[in-house]
Amino acid sequence: MKVTLRTDVLTNNDKAAEFNRDLFQKMKVMVVNLMSSPGAGKTTLLEETVRALAEKYRIAVIEGDLATERDANRIRAMGAKAVQINTHGGCHLDARMVAAALAELDLEVIDLLFIENVGNLVCPSGYDLGQNHKVAVLSIPEGNDKIPKYPQMFMRTELVLLNKIDLLPFLDFSVEEARKDLGEINPASSLLPLSARTKEGLDEWFSWIEGAFQKCLQL
Ligand code: MG
Ligand code: ZN
Repeated sequence: MKVTLRTDVLTNNDKAAEFNRDLFQKMKVMVVNLMSSPGAGKTTLLEETVRALAEKYRIAVIEGDLATERDANRIRAMGAKAVQINTHGGCHLDARMVAAALAELDLEVIDLLFIENVGNLVCPSGYDLGQNHKVAVLSIPEGNDKIPKYPQMFMRTELVLLNKIDLLPFLDFSVEEARKDLGEINPASSLLPLSARTKEGLDEWFSWIEGAFQKCLQL
């Protein structure tokens, strides 16, 4: 299906988000906006997600980075369709960029679309992309201060994937403290400890995707 963009979609973020959301719903695509600081492991997590779920779901990824095609190439190497957006200095994705990237995807043959946002804990959370779910990744080396220091990110995400738990023995990070901090900022959200490297906890992430996708189909 060819996507044609109206002028208001190209100039207004909320209009573009609405356009994306309508399109995703019409095409029965579940969309996850994945956000984190740089280096938290979003791409590695997506590689493992594609590896585990590609037989069951048709998966595509939109990659947001300031520069390079590196992350899209990593996803393509796993056998999934990937579109790279380069923001050329821009520190977040907006719905217009996503709408433009959709021209390169055939949503009719996609079940799950992951949008890997630009690594940044500040403004990505403020831009609606038209996604079904906002998910944050936080990693053990970043320390316990991130949740209380960046509340806008964590109050807008329904799930926080706590990555790199294989490093817990070497670093002073308290999972319980993170759970408590998140509970205070956003009681409706869940914290899911995992390691994309050792695969510990990944099955729970996959179950979450599965449950969310089933709900999405019922809409
Ligand atoms: Mg990445
Ligand atoms: Zn920004």
